[in-house]
Amino acid sequence: SKYLKDQDPEIFHLIEEEEQRQEYNIELIASENFTSKAVMEAMGTALTNKYAEGYPGKRYYGGCHVVDKVETLAIERMKELFGAEHANVQPHSGSQANMAVYMTVLEPGDKVLGMDLSHGGHLTHGSPVNFSGKLYHFISYGVDAETETINYDQLRELALVEKPKLIVAGASAYPRIIDFERIGAIAKEAGAYFMVDMAHIAGLVATGLHPDPVPYADFVTTTTHKTLRGPRGGAVLCKAEFAKALDKSVFPGMQGGPLEHVIAAKAVCFQEAMGEEYKDYMHQVIANTKVLAEELQKRGYRLVSGGTDNHLILVDLNNKDITGKDAEKLLDSIGITTNKNTIPYETRSPFVTSGLRMGCAAMTTRGFREDDIRLMAEFIDYAITHREDDLTFLREKVAELCKKYPLY
Ligand code: PLP
Repeated sequence: SKYLKDQDPEIFHLIEEEEQRQEYNIELIASENFTSKAVMEAMGTALTNKYAEGYPGKRYYGGCHVVDKVETLAIERMKELFGAEHANVQPHSGSQANMAVYMTVLEPGDKVLGMDLSHGGHLTHGSPVNFSGKLYHFISYGVDAETETINYDQLRELALVEKPKLIVAGASAYPRIIDFERIGAIAKEAGAYFMVDMAHIAGLVATGLHPDPVPYADFVTTTTHKTLRGPRGGAVLCKAEFAKALDKSVFPGMQGGPLEHVIAAKAVCFQEAMGEEYKDYMHQVIANTKVLAEELQKRGYRLVSGGTDNHLILVDLNNKDITGKDAEKLLDSIGITTNKNTIPYETRSPFVTSGLRMGCAAMTTRGFREDDIRLMAEFIDYAITHREDDLTFLREKVAELCKKYPLY
């Protein structure tokens, strides 16, 4: 970083400032993580200089024989990690991974069944403000009002009546296991293609801590930067029969040159995810999240669906007389980063919300164990309960806890 400091001190200092923010705040955003130094290093390399439109062995540019090996390694490792027939590691993001699948099997206006955003789905699952909702005719399924888990019977009925061309499963704020086998059977019965967006739970799937979507889905999309703990980016797995069409959808369909420096970092991440250390890490993420759930429930917080099976919880703040927006801001003031989130059957606007989403993937990477989570839950509850008081001392306690586990 010597070069940056000399040449562009403005950006250098902002990066330093962000590093300090990450170092001294507790990161509970469920979609975030901290990559390894090795992943980070791969991204900051000369691979960024290379144009490589096309695929290994079939490029539109000369000089690709080295990046071909990089991309091939990433593809092979990803296929091995998830037991998939085909992998495309070029999508620049999770949204583009989803777009690639839609472009492979849908025409504009085609009908798709996806999970309602306010029930845990993602913007790219048919939100009217997103390309998915603008280009395709999305119909939403949601969670049961009582159990707050996916209502598979309702999903089946909808699928059989609506006859969508594609069913999308997967979510951004769903704390429970999703029965991919069951949704796959529904898709088959309805004559629909089946796509699973496993962005949030990819790390759990990789380590066998969430049922595997790969055997049941025609396509599985993911981001590489959430529980998987790789660089910011996307990827798609699919059955061999869709391989050619999918690759064409990514390039030339919707992207130009792939980011080979990021693809190299994806390869590093896939190798990490095949190791024992990563498996222990993912087990700890689940254990920590369970403790966070219990500690908050003990203090009277209501969790959507009554608990969690994965790396995140969704807290319904209605009985605590604070909105998601205010809770997010309050916790920010003591150095705990979360995000406001709609809850199923939400009564407030998405800018206010009644919920708060929290995940343990990032802090578990820092080294947090059960005792740290207990202490942190105490801080969270204290802040919410004593929100009118001076909480400066809590900000210091949060920083102290962070200091125990240096980031890099
Ligand atoms: N799919 C799901 C389920 C997500 O939660 C997200 C991101 O939050 C995405 C896709 C989109 O990923 P990206 O932000 O990389 O476009």
